[in-house]
Amino acid sequence: MFDQAQIEQIKLIRDYISTAHRAVVTCHMSPDGDAMGSSLALCRVLNNMGVETRVITPDEPNHNLLILPGTDNVIWYTRFQPMVEKCLSKADIIFCLDYNDLKRVDRLEDSIRKSSAVKIMIDHHLYPNLDSVSALISCPERSSTCSLLYSVLSEAGMSEYVDEDVATCILAGMMTDTNNFSHNANHPEDYLIVSHLVSQGADKNKLYNQLFNTFSESCLRLNGYALSHKMEVYNQYHAALIWLTRDELNEYKYKKGDTEGLVNRPLSIPGVIYSAYLREESDFVKVSMRSVGDFPVNIVCEKYFGGGGHLNAAGGEYHGTLNQAVDLFKSLLSVNMQYIEK
Ligand code: 5GP
Ligand code: MN
Repeated sequence: MFDQAQIEQIKLIRDYISTAHRAVVTCHMSPDGDAMGSSLALCRVLNNMGVETRVITPDEPNHNLLILPGTDNVIWYTRFQPMVEKCLSKADIIFCLDYNDLKRVDRLEDSIRKSSAVKIMIDHHLYPNLDSVSALISCPERSSTCSLLYSVLSEAGMSEYVDEDVATCILAGMMTDTNNFSHNANHPEDYLIVSHLVSQGADKNKLYNQLFNTFSESCLRLNGYALSHKMEVYNQYHAALIWLTRDELNEYKYKKGDTEGLVNRPLSIPGVIYSAYLREESDFVKVSMRSVGDFPVNIVCEKYFGGGGHLNAAGGEYHGTLNQAVDLFKSLLSVNMQYIEK
């Protein structure tokens, strides 16, 4: 599972943990199920080991993730800045989970850099940036940081600290990053891990209901509206686009997370290879892209939308108006054919 260099890194991480008193676990902006799941899981493992630990996020987690055990103790920079800075300055270790570059934590970046704590990155995104990082476990071939974290804990001899809550958080991240094991889901090791997690008390049926099958009425209607009125399909270019303005989001009482998964829906149309969802925020446009096969949405997001990510799931922030972002996407339709016509 791990090569010799990675095993050495895991030993180093174990040594850092054994001398630590206080730790902080951080994850990327707009934390998703994998980011929150891995952070909460590691936080609980460390607390179980007697290391006083807290999860700090750049901004507020999606409300549908509040079902995860431990979320009530999470603090985020945009609301709890003084407490966040105090925790970071007192920490011996700062873990960086589910992100590959300190840029991904937005305004938390400076406070993390300023802290004298050891920084340990555990992640499954491509091209990790080692700047300021003392130990790194980078496995882009893994389907989620949660699954990777479980393997790291096993290799580090820390499995005994995986209790029911830890198992629940890890399973939640594994499920959300693979859309309930429907993509990136042919990794045999993931199913061995799921078996251990369920044995530990994680309830997969309940998690599925909570994470994939619970929506408010306004959220359901917003998604219906987006699909029936705001989706364009460009069959000849194998592409689809959905975009929503602030006014539309407000009309449907949009709450963070309400359109999670929307970008995947056009991919169910035969012939559609990639899909984008543009959401107007107050000072930028949030871009999400998904694809099937070898169409590299990470390259498109990196080149044109100030972001990046994985081959089939990427995102970014466009600094301009929503209309400009829509026009840019449409102007790329023919350019992107280079990734399709091989
Ligand atoms: P989502 O579309 O769910 O926001 O993000 C999907 C994936 O794209 C994330 O897991 C992350 O890898 C990547 N991603 C999303 N937004 C950004 C961004 O602003 N910058 C970068 N570098 N990656 C992003
Ligand atoms: Mn992830």
